[in-house]
Amino acid sequence: MLNPDEIKALIVTLARTMADNADELTALDSAIGDGDHGHNMKRGFEALVAEGDAIAGKPPGEALKAAGMKLVMTVGGASGPLFGTLLMTLGKEIGAADRPAFPTAFRKAVESVAARGKSEKGQKTMLDVLFPVADALDAGAGPREIADVAARAAEATVPVVATRGRASFLGERSAGHMDPGSRSVALLAATVADFMEGRR
Ligand code: ADP
Ligand code: MG
Repeated sequence: MLNPDEIKALIVTLARTMADNADELTALDSAIGDGDHGHNMKRGFEALVAEGDAIAGKPPGEALKAAGMKLVMTVGGASGPLFGTLLMTLGKEIGAADRPAFPTAFRKAVESVAARGKSEKGQKTMLDVLFPVADALDAGAGPREIADVAARAAEATVPVVATRGRASFLGERSAGHMDPGSRSVALLAATVADFMEGRR
């Protein structure tokens, strides 16, 4: 469990990753979307930093719900409500009376993203990384292993023809580019792994 100072530090670190990689994410989204993904994510995580004290002061479930709501309001696009749903469901599960184990809560959260996006794995969306991450968590993988799984899963979206999201409008021409939302999840996973390693 992270203490409030660590939660704040993690938010700042995640926001830095999104800012540092905004141009790359935007370039990926320019290739197969509308070129706003990097900017969307940067803006959303900056908003989390601005609310850092308020978020970090809450119990974990409430903190995740508050962060998710903030992302819905600030990221925009298709990805804002989806990343928001991920965190809000995770918060709801973790805060529930029967508090499931983290891997179970995370899988529920990923399934709620799929329900919200009317999407499934294999369509060249963030789900192509989120489901493998859920599988790795179930298998008991540690943060670094999970980050590696996420990086490989994001890479594996390159040849896929998109059938959901804006990239699907391109049909076959969407193949040959990494899905920007998948890249974001991989970047976030790598940042969490770095952060957890730094704590030890
Ligand atoms: P928009 O597509 O509205 O411009 P963004 O550029 O911020 O929004 O986010 C695009 C990313 O959102 C995609 O790369 C993909 O990973 C994800 N995405 C889009 N639609 C869906 C969906 N229906 N289900 C899951 N993920 C999706
Ligand atoms: Mg976009």
